[in-house]
Amino acid sequence: MTHSPAVRIDGKAFAAGVRGKVAARVARLREEHGITPGLAVVLVGEDPASAVYVRNKGIQTLEAGMASFEHRLPETTSEADLLALIARLNADPAVHGILVQLPLPPHLNADPVINAIAPAKDVDGFHILNVGLLGTGQKAMVPCTPLGCLMMLRDHLGDLAGLNAVVVGRSNIVGKPMAQLLLGESCTVTIAHSRTRDLASVCRGADILVAAVGRPEMIPGDWIKPGAVVIDVGINRVEREGRMRLVGDVDFASASLAAGAITPVPGGVGPMTIACLLANTLTACCRANGLPEPEGLTV
Ligand code: NDP
Repeated sequence: MTHSPAVRIDGKAFAAGVRGKVAARVARLREEHGITPGLAVVLVGEDPASAVYVRNKGIQTLEAGMASFEHRLPETTSEADLLALIARLNADPAVHGILVQLPLPPHLNADPVINAIAPAKDVDGFHILNVGLLGTGQKAMVPCTPLGCLMMLRDHLGDLAGLNAVVVGRSNIVGKPMAQLLLGESCTVTIAHSRTRDLASVCRGADILVAAVGRPEMIPGDWIKPGAVVIDVGINRVEREGRMRLVGDVDFASASLAAGAITPVPGGVGPMTIACLLANTLTACCRANGLPEPEGLTV
C-alpha cells in the first residue's frame, strides 16, 4: 500500500501563533483594565541548561508584553530561604505565575518547594492540588508541555473523542498529565512505560501516539498505524556524522512514511512549552482578576 508522506506539524509556527494570541490579550488587559500579567522565575544554582531556559523564558515573557521577574539564587540556598522567597511571590499581586526551574540542586527536595507555590500561581501545573484537579476533570493549571501537545492535536484533528491514544512514558511532568488530558477529550487512553509488554503492538493500535521517553529514535515507522498522528516529545542529543544533533523518541524518517501527521524534533513540541507557559500566566492573571479566560489557550 502506498501512502503519502505525513504532514509535518510545525510547532515553531504554531507556538508563534499562540504567543501572538497571548500578546494580543495582554495588550487588551493593559488597555481596558490597566493590568499587566507577571511571571516570576526562580533559578537556584548554575546549571547551564537551566540558565538558558530561564533566559529564554524571560525574553519571551517580555516580548508578550508581560512583566518578568527573575530570581537567581546561589547553589547553596537553603530550603527555608527558597520557601521564604516563594511566600513573598505568593503574596505579591504583581506576580500571577511562579515557576521554579527544575532540577533543583541535590540538597533541595522539589516536592515541598513546588507545593509551597500558591496553586493559582502554579503555572507549571505541578502542585499536588493542580494534579488532583486535572485528574478529577476540574479546572486546573495544566503542565505546559502536555498542554502544547493537546493544542496541536486539537488543531490537527478537531474532535478527539473515541480515538485510541497511546502515551509512551508515565512521568509526572509529561506522560501522566498528557494521558489525563486525552482522557478529558474522551480518547481511549493507554499509558505505556518501560515494563510494557510488546510495546510495538500497543503502539500499532494508536490513532494518536505521544512519545515521551527520552530514548533516541526508539519508535520505528513500522510501529505506527497508517495515518496516525504522532507527537514526539523526546529531546535527545546524539552524535551523527561527527556533529551533535537533536532527535526525538521517534525515527522521523521511517515514521513519516506511515503517519498522517508528525511533529519534528527540533521544531515540534519544544517551542510550544514556553508558549504554553505564557498562556498559563495569562490564564492565571485573568482568573486572579475575575476576567474571562483567554479563548483556545486553556482546557
Ligand atoms: P522521564 O525520564 O521522567 O520518563 C521517561 C518515561 O519513559 C518513564 O515513564 C519510563 O518508564 C519510560 N521509558 C523508559 N524507557 C522505556 C522503554 N524502553 N520503553 C517504554 N517506555 C520507556 O522523562 P520525561 O517525561 O521528563 O521526558 C521524556 C522526554 O521528553 C525526554 O526526552 C525529555 O527531554 C523530553 N521533554 C521535552 C520537553 C519539551 O519541551 N519538548 C519537556 C519535557 C520533557 P518507567 O516509568 O517504567 O521508568
